[in-house]
Amino acid sequence: MIQDILNQFHISSQNSGVSTGTQWLKADGAVIDAHSPVDGKHIAQVTAASRANYDTVVTTAAAAFKEWRLWPAPRRGEVVRQIGEALRKNKQALGKLVSYEMGKSLQEGYGEVQEMIDICDFAVGLSRQLHGLTMHSERPGHRMYEQWHPLGITGIISAFNFPVAVWSWNAMLAWVCGDVCIWKPSEKTPLSAIACQQIVQEVLQANNVPEGVCCLLAGNRDAGEWLAADTRVPLVSATGSTRMGKAVAAVVAARLGRSLLELGGNNAIIISKDADLDMSLIGCVFGAVGTAGQRCTTTRRLIIHESVYDAFTAKLVKAYGQLKIGNPLDENNHVGPLIDTDAVRMYEHAIAEVQKEGGRILVEGGVLSGAEYASGCYVKPCIAEVENHYQIVQHETFAPILYVMKYKTLEEAIALQNGVPQGLSSSIMTLNLREAEAFLSQAGSDCGIANVNIGTSGAEIGGAFGGEKETGGGRESGSEAWKAYMRRQTNTINYSTQLPLAQGIKFDL
Ligand code: NAD
Repeated sequence: MIQDILNQFHISSQNSGVSTGTQWLKADGAVIDAHSPVDGKHIAQVTAASRANYDTVVTTAAAAFKEWRLWPAPRRGEVVRQIGEALRKNKQALGKLVSYEMGKSLQEGYGEVQEMIDICDFAVGLSRQLHGLTMHSERPGHRMYEQWHPLGITGIISAFNFPVAVWSWNAMLAWVCGDVCIWKPSEKTPLSAIACQQIVQEVLQANNVPEGVCCLLAGNRDAGEWLAADTRVPLVSATGSTRMGKAVAAVVAARLGRSLLELGGNNAIIISKDADLDMSLIGCVFGAVGTAGQRCTTTRRLIIHESVYDAFTAKLVKAYGQLKIGNPLDENNHVGPLIDTDAVRMYEHAIAEVQKEGGRILVEGGVLSGAEYASGCYVKPCIAEVENHYQIVQHETFAPILYVMKYKTLEEAIALQNGVPQGLSSSIMTLNLREAEAFLSQAGSDCGIANVNIGTSGAEIGGAFGGEKETGGGRESGSEAWKAYMRRQTNTINYSTQLPLAQGIKFDL
């Protein structure tokens, strides 16, 4: 089955990972080996971009921008509409490849491609709504307004856990805004990126889109560093760890470029005494174990009212006992593998640290062995009772470890929820209107996403996505996120016969 999918996307045993749209360059950088965490098999090799390849890509993209920015935005939207159609046709195959290369469940693989389709639809509508404002001038016979212009090259650095959706959130908006894109996918999931390029390629060809509008730049960290340092790249949108974001932010800021950062989370759900506990359970378990705890919005902490603590943790323990761990392409399984054995080591390290700091294990973790788990990447979702101040709890461990803690008052619960360096997603489970509104108020959650009676993960593309504090402050996807991909220009037009100066200044010759 996987071989058919690789054939469908023209992926062979050795592939160039560098493209300017419809042309694949002869890549001569490092060789990246793509392995599947599902069965540990070596899938294919991808040759990354060398510095010379990189320069060719940037030069081609810069030339393409000069043309692409002149296409009317609705015409660019039409290209994006066709990309959405191409993704619809390839949803099953691309979803399966994502699932096999990254290890998320098949349903989540399809869901990720659906998100790409949704953002295409959103971007098509947006292509006719890149609105500016008009203002009243203080001077007679003058008109003032603002308009939004394309910015140039958008560099997109993406993480392994959403190997394709994050690119589309950025690229589809950037394109309708008139920018051109260079995508540096995660070195852990290069094949899903090649498949996307193959899907888009036909649409680019059919519409005579200038070569350089949609570039792929497979590479390791160094390729991301080239983008961050390059003054020809006005915007760098980087998704990944806070460590990476701090490095990228410093380099981009040193050249006064713009960065859009989507970094780590440490998301909590508050379970109030007025929560519907059965409903809460689904949100908590899916949030904690979905994608094997490798979502930026994964539920990492539960802050539970003391009066329902025992009852709710008992439900959790029971639910964890029913989880099926195994091949994510088998739809009967709930939990697939971690991305690689390095991730497994970090998971083991975190559990050891929890115990060292005084945590109590409620559901035992551990690495699974046996034929079905031959990749060595399958771990048991684990639950530990902790205190929020533990160093390991303050840190995002990208694995299915759920921390639980008790609270007495809502103020205390909100302080615990906010008491971590990250600020991505948060929720409260309550049927009490006062509590819900207090949680959403300016004195409530400090996160970019705050939900009531749903979990922390699974955002819809219509809203702006992103978080505060160490999550980086960027916003992608819906609402007004498109403004990050454009430059604002204020225009004042004098249609009078005089030249009055602003602020009443007199200047006579
Ligand atoms: P990572 O930081 O290791 O790598 C992400 C990307 O950055 C990769 O493409 C990598 O090659 C590149 N990179 C690494 N160091 C770099 C540097 N110094 N300069 C330029 N590029 C560099 O992250 P990961 O392990 O792939 O992904 C997991 C992390 O991503 C988690 O922390 C997760 O929370 C975060 N994430 C956040 C969001 C969000 O929207 N907030 C979404 C998905 C993932």
